[in-house]
Amino acid sequence: MKKDILEKGAILQRDRETYAIAPHIPAGITDTATLRKICDVADKYRVEAIKITSAQRIALIGLREEDLDDIWTDLAVTPGAAIGLCVRSVKICPGTTHCKRGVQDSVSLGLKLDSIYHAMELPNKMKMGVSGCMLSCAESALKDIGVMGTNKGWRIMVGGNAGARPRIGDLLVDNVPTEEAVLEIVAKVIDYYKNASNQNRIGRIIEEMGIERFREEVLGSHES
Ligand code: SF4
Repeated sequence: MKKDILEKGAILQRDRETYAIAPHIPAGITDTATLRKICDVADKYRVEAIKITSAQRIALIGLREEDLDDIWTDLAVTPGAAIGLCVRSVKICPGTTHCKRGVQDSVSLGLKLDSIYHAMELPNKMKMGVSGCMLSCAESALKDIGVMGTNKGWRIMVGGNAGARPRIGDLLVDNVPTEEAVLEIVAKVIDYYKNASNQNRIGRIIEEMGIERFREEVLGSHES
């Protein structure tokens, strides 16, 4: 019986025969040349459907298994981490780059996080979201690691997830003054999670140990 092909980023479809792939488009920001290339590939391989995903990717649906290697070659990108136990693409809102409500540069921070962590293998799947203000259009509170811009810097939340048992993330640290400081804190969370004996998603780990102890073990302080 067919199943997902992780190394080719290929997700088995409902027909149990064809696959979908979703090329990685950091921040969901693309250009006409990339879109033309995706359209050319879609035409060449007669895709059944093209779908904009919730992870800011463009999925090509209804692909034959024997075409997958050629499709990735034609797209000239490596398979994105749309599936598997790893960091998925980082959801990023337009922030101060384009949005009139933005107070922090979510695109800059989000792309840095994406370049460091996208596809990194971890004990479980991990989603990240970066929003340029507290309206949180990247749904930061529902991400394993979610960051929101505030007038004083950045708020970092941990342990959010959607799914069958949705969970709002806990506040880890508030008023983080710089991108660099956010990156340092996220690195500590990832480092802790990589070595955790508990293989659940971060939200479940926090439910067991409590946010105070999680914060202390990750950051070495009670500061929030
Ligand atoms: S979270 Fe704020 S900055 Fe980002 S798109 Fe929404 S309103 Fe704009």
